[in-house]
Amino acid sequence: MPSPPIPYRGRFAPSPSGALHFGSLIAAVASYLDARCHQGTWLVRMEDVDEGRNQAGAADDILFTLEHYGFEWDEAVIYQTQRKQAYAQAVNHLFEKGLAYRCTCSRRELVAQARTGSFGPIYPGTCRDKHHPVSARHAIRIHTTDTPVEFTDRLMGHQQQNLQRELGDFIIRRRDGFFAYQLAVVVDDEAQQVNQVVRGHDLLDSTARQIYLQRCLGYAESQYLHLPIALNPDGEKLSKQTHAPPISKKSAAPNLYRALKFLGQQPPADLQRDSLGYIWQWSAENWDSNKIPAQSSIDEY
Ligand SMILES: [Zn+2]
Repeated sequence: MPSPPIPYRGRFAPSPSGALHFGSLIAAVASYLDARCHQGTWLVRMEDVDEGRNQAGAADDILFTLEHYGFEWDEAVIYQTQRKQAYAQAVNHLFEKGLAYRCTCSRRELVAQARTGSFGPIYPGTCRDKHHPVSARHAIRIHTTDTPVEFTDRLMGHQQQNLQRELGDFIIRRRDGFFAYQLAVVVDDEAQQVNQVVRGHDLLDSTARQIYLQRCLGYAESQYLHLPIALNPDGEKLSKQTHAPPISKKSAAPNLYRALKFLGQQPPADLQRDSLGYIWQWSAENWDSNKIPAQSSIDEY
């Protein structure tokens, strides 16, 4: 298992599309404790780039809940909706390097002409050499290559993905003008000098795209640890889409205990009745990322 970088800079990056639920609490707890036990810096970033999904009041509610649970972030919270200029600069940079191009294909056209992979239609490069004018309604894509992107996840081990074969040239700015999540994350991690990403396993699939963008933009590469996902009794990921209930502000101690247990840290049963101060102290002293199970499981609290 590769060891984390020094000085360590990690982050928790929730999307304000709803309140914090148990699935996101797991990512918050693991990223926080991993940063703390490496004397690292821990940041919070609001991933509100997909503006259509933002829910009014959710960002404040998430921060309030984190505070209530005793999380302490080390620098000001950044919001992706305030960083469009930085994303535009990164896209321009990719154009200058000849790595980006405008694509006017509609979703319907893509479905008709492209093979479908596990991530949807594999973009066949239709617009690569068409040089569409800026005036046309378009998305912006990045050139991918036929070389696998490889990385070693601290928990999941060696990973690789051939972007060209599995996804095709992917979108960095959407047709509706919003920047793609993959681009925003990479630009933000660079700006915040994040070098350690601890997050849910559902984002493992995004990692190769993010590393590829880091390489294209000449950014430093982060190290990754993808956590198991909490599933509901139907075996679905806890998320806003599967109607995961928000975590109660009143149940901080039992919910933190439950998260530690889910993360394989074997907290003593008494801990759930302790003060938040003591729970965090115990957690920081006992955090061991080697104990995290690699397998996602049903949260059987
Ligand atoms: Zn196209």
